[in-house]
Amino acid sequence: MSRVLIVGAGLTGSLCACLLRREMQNKVKIVVWDKSRGAGGRMSTSRSPSNAACTADLGAQYITATPFYAQIHQSFYEELLSHGILKPLVAPVEGMIKKDDLRDFVTPKGVSSIVKHYLRESGAEVLFEHCVTHIHQKGAGWEVRRTGGAAEEFDAVVLTMPVPQILQLQGDVCSREYSLRTPPKCCPGSSLRDPAHCRHRPYSCTLLLAHSDF
Ligand SMILES: Cc1cc2nc3c(=O)[nH]c(=O)nc-3n(C[C@H](O)[C@H](O)[C@H](O)COP(=O)(O)OP(=O)(O)OC[C@H]3O[C@@H](n4cnc5c(N)ncnc54)[C@H](O)[C@@H]3O)c2cc1C
Repeated sequence: MSRVLIVGAGLTGSLCACLLRREMQNKVKIVVWDKSRGAGGRMSTSRSPSNAACTADLGAQYITATPFYAQIHQSFYEELLSHGILKPLVAPVEGMIKKDDLRDFVTPKGVSSIVKHYLRESGAEVLFEHCVTHIHQKGAGWEVRRTGGAAEEFDAVVLTMPVPQILQLQGDVCSREYSLRTPPKCCPGSSLRDPAHCRHRPYSCTLLLAHSDF
């Protein structure tokens, strides 16, 4: 069975794991590593040590759907609404610019509940405090090293962390040109290494390391 490592347990990594599971069923073993102590990334939720019901979202605090995304991502919104993970935002937020065609949602259990839902759905093995440091191509696969642990091999690796953190990785990742989903296409003249010309900074990208026949 193929083994896929997804680096990052934020929204991108968790949704990627979930979609991969739905597409591949049991034909793939999915492993998620994140350097932090819990799921969420920039959608993390903190709990009061004295009252677990008292939470604070430290990154994203509400979700806004434009008409375009509400339509093309309709099934995602319906799934999250049906599980009670999203609820329509009805109260006013100070300073918020309200537009009639935008739909805003809040997360009653904290914004990390979106990420946790997708991780649960994915059935992935999720390991925290796993900070990836090196990625080397090895035969048809990839050898991944992390802080304080043994190297492991995977058939494919998906990097979902922000670009500056991808650039810190040692090994074969940044030493060659890859086709990236966002930066070079959105702003010709910019590149993964030199994002200075990209007017969409700071950006994230998803980088898939795999052989073409994977
Ligand atoms: C203050 C703030 C407010 C925001 N408000 C909103 C909002 O209101 N609405 C909205 O829709 N969006 C908002 N956003 C944007 C939204 O939070 C992000 O777009 C989204 O969470 C990004 O998810 P991601 O999975 O792509 O990246 P991340 O959440 O950054 O996930 C990347 C993960 O990779 C892990 N990682 C990094 N390096 C390594 C490594 N070497 N080894 C292992 N793991 C690693 C990190 O720990 C992290 O968990 C906000 C963001 C911030 C910071």
